[in-house]
Amino acid sequence: MALVRLIYTSKTNPAFAGNALEQILESSRVNNSKQFITGCLFFNKNFIIQYLEGGAVQVNQLYNRIVQDKRHTDIRLMDYAWIDKRLFAGWSMGFAADTTATRKIFVNYAETDSFNPLNLPVDAAIHLLRDLKDFAGAHQTGQS
Ligand code: FAD
Repeated sequence: MALVRLIYTSKTNPAFAGNALEQILESSRVNNSKQFITGCLFFNKNFIIQYLEGGAVQVNQLYNRIVQDKRHTDIRLMDYAWIDKRLFAGWSMGFAADTTATRKIFVNYAETDSFNPLNLPVDAAIHLLRDLKDFAGAHQTGQS
């Protein structure tokens, strides 16, 4: 069956603080594994970017749930495309947060190290998320 990737950006809202991230990662681990959806999430105090890949029906259904989730706002679809192969195989939902280390990765793709995905071209976003995945994998964090 054909695979798709979907990338969107959004803005965090106060409800994203606290244990929202843990809840989201727990839902992702359970639901995404069942649906063979893989991907990666990166966020700071203002913005989120998420990459989802899997079967078109499954990815579309998940995205429909995510856009209704009140824990974030201003959801913008960045990219939706057919893909030949997964980038995040084995990652039910990798994640990375805004840290000194991830800022050093981000600055490779932007004018400053302050993460703002709204200005990122799609190719840069994909490269950034791959770099963050490699970073998380090398540091044994982020894989869920
Ligand atoms: P449940 O098991 O019913 O809920 C899990 C926990 O989250 C519960 O404590 C519940 O109270 C809480 N919760 C659920 N929905 C909401 C809500 N809308 N507002 C506040 N609290 C809530 N889900 C995935 O399955 N895969 C993903 O990759 C994924 N990525 C997400 C990325 C972002 C940025 C956000 C904001 C949400 C994401 N979600 C993801 C969550 C998704 O929006 C749904 O909440 C989730 O899929 C519901 O799954 P469930 O019915 O198994 O959750």
